[in-house]
Amino acid sequence: MPVLELLEHFLMTPRVSWFVFQAPFRHEAGQYVALSAPVGGARQTRYYSIASPPDPSGRIELCVQHEGAFGSHLRSLRRGDRTECSEPGGKMRLLDAARPAVYFAAGTGVSPMRAILLEQLRANPAAEAVLLLGARHSSELLFRDELEALAARHAGFRFVPTVSGDDPGWDGRRGRVAAHIAEALAGLSSPDAYFCGQRELVAQLQELLTAAGIADERQVYERY
Ligand SMILES: Cc1cc2nc3c(=O)[nH]c(=O)nc-3n(C[C@H](O)[C@H](O)[C@H](O)COP(=O)(O)OP(=O)(O)OC[C@H]3O[C@@H](n4cnc5c(N)ncnc54)[C@H](O)[C@@H]3O)c2cc1C
Repeated sequence: MPVLELLEHFLMTPRVSWFVFQAPFRHEAGQYVALSAPVGGARQTRYYSIASPPDPSGRIELCVQHEGAFGSHLRSLRRGDRTECSEPGGKMRLLDAARPAVYFAAGTGVSPMRAILLEQLRANPAAEAVLLLGARHSSELLFRDELEALAARHAGFRFVPTVSGDDPGWDGRRGRVAAHIAEALAGLSSPDAYFCGQRELVAQLQELLTAAGIADERQVYERY
């Protein structure tokens, strides 16, 4: 079984941590890994999407909600600690960097979207792409600074954040991701759609995107 070595981790928000591991494998943008460790007296396994595109050095980045049992365990690891891991798996991948793309995510579901989006913009800096990202509070819009900087650098990329909870200081879009699909799709000519999240969100997005004319084979998704 492959083993990951922790290089660093730090807080992104009070509930989410960022981990950088050295991996013995190469992955494809959009894949996830299963980490296993003894937690609470039993061996446990949790799945985490890789938030970074493939890197020749073998470094992988994970974005983990760390309040639960396994997340707390990962937070307790120190630089150089090792953890067992599966080979990368999953069906999410970049279909075609040349095609327009729309990405939907909420919370840590942004991880595989970030990996695929960065891969697309690396292969095609002029790509037409939109990322619609939701969070309960604006401080929980993960990678906000990076995504705003990407939008400033890539004329074809639009970042569309929305906040669903109580956040008096936020003067941007309000509500959940599904409420802003029409805005995200505006101006894109038959895009590929990438999304992941809880079962209900995935089902809702499938229905709305199909109604918007995006064929099944152009919808790439993972259920968390
Ligand atoms: C394909 C796939 C990819 C995934 N990718 C990711 C990813 O990239 N990032 C990610 O974070 N997760 C991801 N998940 C979910 C992940 O596998 C775990 O299920 C999740 O992180 C919870 O595991 P846990 O043991 O830390 O929490 P558990 O102990 O199982 O608790 C579940 C949830 O309860 C809440 N909770 C538990 N204890 C507390 C507490 N003390 N205070 C407040 N809230 C609490 C937390 O919200 C926690 O996430 C993915 C799942 C799948 C299937």
